[in-house]
Amino acid sequence: MNKKDILSFTPAELEAEITALGEKKFRASQLFDWLHAKRVTAFADCSNLPGALTEKLDGLYVIPRAAVKRKLESRLDGTVKYLYEFADGERCETVLMSYRHGTSLCISTQVGCKMGCSFCASTKAGFVRDLTPSEMLLQVYETERDSGRKVESLVLMGIGEPLDNFDNVMKFLSLLSSEKGKNMSLRHVSLSTCGIVPRIRELADMKTGLTLSVSLHAPTDEKRSAIMPVNKRYDTAELMSACRYYFDKTGRRISFEFALISGVNDDPGTAKELIKLLRPLSPCHVNLIPVNEIREREYRRSAKVREFQKMLTDSGINATVRRTLGADINAACGQLRRDSIAN
Ligand code: SAH
Repeated sequence: MNKKDILSFTPAELEAEITALGEKKFRASQLFDWLHAKRVTAFADCSNLPGALTEKLDGLYVIPRAAVKRKLESRLDGTVKYLYEFADGERCETVLMSYRHGTSLCISTQVGCKMGCSFCASTKAGFVRDLTPSEMLLQVYETERDSGRKVESLVLMGIGEPLDNFDNVMKFLSLLSSEKGKNMSLRHVSLSTCGIVPRIRELADMKTGLTLSVSLHAPTDEKRSAIMPVNKRYDTAELMSACRYYFDKTGRRISFEFALISGVNDDPGTAKELIKLLRPLSPCHVNLIPVNEIREREYRRSAKVREFQKMLTDSGINATVRRTLGADINAACGQLRRDSIAN
């Protein structure tokens, strides 16, 4: 019999499991505390649970772990990139970053990705599977354990499309923000999407407090569809209308990611089109990213980032340039996992 993953249960689900075993309810909350606050790795370590119960738990459930397969530490800025391996041998990448305002973790939500964005390394080897809620939590727990650092904010910007793994991501966020667990406010979480429109609307209705980052990268349907196939399913007009809906419902300013690629989307004409597209959504934020050059494509980093930024800010659109972290360890997502598959 396959043992059940005990880390993916919400407090209510854990209570149902424990009472079904003929135990009192309070045992479930003791167990949740051991798993998510004290982070035990063996049932036998839950010292206030009776031995008979921990033995029973051991026979039925597993406390999953993620193994550090590789770890790269930047000498430039302290960024640490982890390659984790799960029980079935699949791997994902997680990046720990230090900013002036604290420690942030970038986690993956899927093994591989279906979205096919032409500039992204994570999608090149295709899609393998969704990550479970506990595999997302483990990226946080194992990183805190290994680094001794406390993760203060989280970005869902690693491998995968979070809104294509919606239910698991939502369950993960509920576990992460659980008072009896890590207790992280969702105001400290950013979710990045390539633009799955119906899910953006659903997320807006849930009023989670999350910051929504939208990977835009091009301001017109013609240009966006050429580099992001998802735009053929949900075009820019639909996307902008969903963003407007998110802002109106939640009051949270949307952040747009725009990776500047030389000769593709970094000319003044594109900046003008972007201004036109985003003006109705103001106040919003544009995060300009000098594109990470990947092996599979000829895309080159734009040399016109500052000019592009100035055009936006001159027209009243808030735009910042993302600091490059971990440049010496190739912290761009997807590349470490790709290398590990190829080897
Ligand atoms: N699927 C989600 C989250 C993962 S990608 C999304 O699309 O938002 C995280 C961010 O990195 C996205 O903004 C993505 O477009 C961007 N990205 C991917 N490859 C990149 C590259 N080579 N250079 C710069 N940014 C890249």
